[in-house]
Amino acid sequence: MKIGLIRCMQTEEMCPATRCLDAMRRKKAAFAGASGDLELVGVTTCGGCPGKKAGLRAAMMLRRGAEAIALASCITKGTPIDYACPFAARLAQVVRAAVGEDVPIFDYTHAPAKKKASPAAAPGCCGPRLEA
Ligand code: SF4
Repeated sequence: MKIGLIRCMQTEEMCPATRCLDAMRRKKAAFAGASGDLELVGVTTCGGCPGKKAGLRAAMMLRRGAEAIALASCITKGTPIDYACPFAARLAQVVRAAVGEDVPIFDYTHAPAKKKASPAAAPGCCGPRLEA
């Protein structure tokens, strides 16, 4: 299956899509159970807030050979900064309208990373900060 990946434009400066590509390559997370080999045909962004270009870009992916669209976890899961797109639901509707009902859409790519405990919460530390 050939896949076009759409990601959040706000996060492209802080994430090179490594985990998205790894999930796709190894058929993990959203791609677990996908049939056949997965081939990435392109990566683009939503076009910026509020995501009005996402449909156009999804359609562009289909013209470039994509058979499915993946919405990256930065859009729907908030990776890598725990801040999902506030327009994610509408953005997904726009993409669906642009590609039609028969094109599979992966609604995320990978699971969010497990959060590390903050130093203040770590055992043996001085505990939560008290307000003055
Ligand atoms: S519309 Fe959503 S996915 Fe696109 S740049 Fe803005 S926050 Fe990111």
